[in-house]
Amino acid sequence: MAIERTFSILKPDATRRNLTGAINAKIEQAGLRIIAQKRVWMTRGQAETFYGVHRERPFFGELVDTMTSGPVVVQVLEGDNAIKKYREVMGATNPEKADAGTIRKDFAVSMGENSVHGSDAPETAAIEIAQWFSGNEIVG
Ligand code: UDP
Ligand code: MG
Repeated sequence: MAIERTFSILKPDATRRNLTGAINAKIEQAGLRIIAQKRVWMTRGQAETFYGVHRERPFFGELVDTMTSGPVVVQVLEGDNAIKKYREVMGATNPEKADAGTIRKDFAVSMGENSVHGSDAPETAAIEIAQWFSGNEIVG
């Protein structure tokens, strides 16, 4: 299996409810290593750039509002098949459809406040990591 890196966000609904440690525990229990991490409050411009792929979708404005409603924790995770593995640990986008034991099943409030982001492919992981971290902030 290939060692990969993926990009993660603990969203404002998670920081607001003091869940960063509980979510990090699930990440680490899955065998993913948190090799970079910082707490930031996204500007609207940063959130619009980050979710630019969804710009034309009806939920875009609400998504940007939600992502800028409080601080987030941005992370780089590393491990075997990290991109797919983290998507599994996160659970489905709609928490009602998420499997038992996943982050979204256990912690998400709704589709809009679903606690975490994880990259969906190697190309997007690289772009997302580069938006938030410089090389010397990532210590694998
Ligand atoms: N989202 C939403 N309504 C939708 C679809 C998505 O509010 O109908 C939000 C949701 O918070 C999701 C984010 O937009 O996490 C990005 O959507 P995507 O389809 O990329 O889901 P993800 O990759 O986060 O599972
Ligand atoms: Mg996505």
